[in-house]
Amino acid sequence: SKVIFSGIQPTGIPHLGNYLGALRQWVKLQETESDDTRLLYSLVDLHAITVKQDPRQLRQWRHESLATLLAIGLDPARSIIFHQSDVPAHSELMWILSCTASVGHLSRMTQWKSKLALPENAKPLDSPLQLGLFSYPVLQAADILVHQATHVPVGEDQSQHLEFTRSCATGFNHLYGDVLTEPETILSPAKRVMSLSKPADKKMSKSDTNYKSRILITDSREEIQRKVKTAVTDSIDGITFDPINRPGIANLVTIMQYLLEDELITPEELVKDIPTKSALKDRVTDVIDAHIEPIRERFNKLMSPDDRDYLIDVAEEGAEMAITSAEETMKKVRDAIGFGSAS
Ligand code: ATP
Ligand code: MG
Repeated sequence: SKVIFSGIQPTGIPHLGNYLGALRQWVKLQETESDDTRLLYSLVDLHAITVKQDPRQLRQWRHESLATLLAIGLDPARSIIFHQSDVPAHSELMWILSCTASVGHLSRMTQWKSKLALPENAKPLDSPLQLGLFSYPVLQAADILVHQATHVPVGEDQSQHLEFTRSCATGFNHLYGDVLTEPETILSPAKRVMSLSKPADKKMSKSDTNYKSRILITDSREEIQRKVKTAVTDSIDGITFDPINRPGIANLVTIMQYLLEDELITPEELVKDIPTKSALKDRVTDVIDAHIEPIRERFNKLMSPDDRDYLIDVAEEGAEMAITSAEETMKKVRDAIGFGSAS
């Protein structure tokens, strides 16, 4: 049967890229998958510490991130929602997978280079690189494989890591027999939402130092308006949909299109009656605000002191179910390796 797993780092409130590329898909799967599909969604805090974090800030972000997952409509009665660090089997399987994972393959991953702002041809040993930032794709592979996930809904920036995950499964299975499941990637149509400040070449990111480069799913109407106003466009008159020559405009139009979710209307049609950039920005602001208003309201309610205990309960119950799910796999893994007493 199907198992769906995905994760998000608790390194700030999710933005529209996270939402359109991954989170909205998580909620849709909850609505469309049959009851026997297991759904697991993790706040991957062990990944968050691959870069420097302030402990108090991280604790706050873990709490807020859980609230955002509930605010977008994930239902803890249907989906297993948990903090990664509450389930030690993720780290245990990571070690086991590191014993077969290839350093060469890891060094070809691009994310450690972009997080350290290193050039694309950078080599691991020449750079100020922490082991965890280099090897975290192995942890990500463990996150997925420890639950025997068959499908992983993520944004396009994660395709490379999913490929690596499959190679970890193959590597393990080759040595120890057919234990781990190779997962498939599920990409949403909005697989890469671009930064508002660098729409030609950077994806929208939680870790971008320019907070105006992203719109958070809890932003107020005023914040949305301010950020959309300063979004980089171009100096061409009028509005056309032309992703190659007008990436800034195209990004705003596609954000709008994905939020409206009307498959029958093309981006070209969407901009047909919009005369100017300021009219486009007003329109985009309205569409974003209308869509996230209910999310923002639910989030604010969940963050009130009254709901604190409820969130703690959700995390505890999620952890318990995730531990059970992971143990099913770990029993087989330990047995295949030769750990424990033979059954
Ligand atoms: P960071 O910059 O710290 O890596 P992030 O914004 O990339 O943060 P993650 O927690 O790493 O957020 O990713 C959560 C999910 O959101 C992943 O599935 C990722 O592929 C997806 N995602 C992130 N950014 C975008 C984007 N701009 N467009 C579409 N999907 C995205
Ligand atoms: Mg990321």
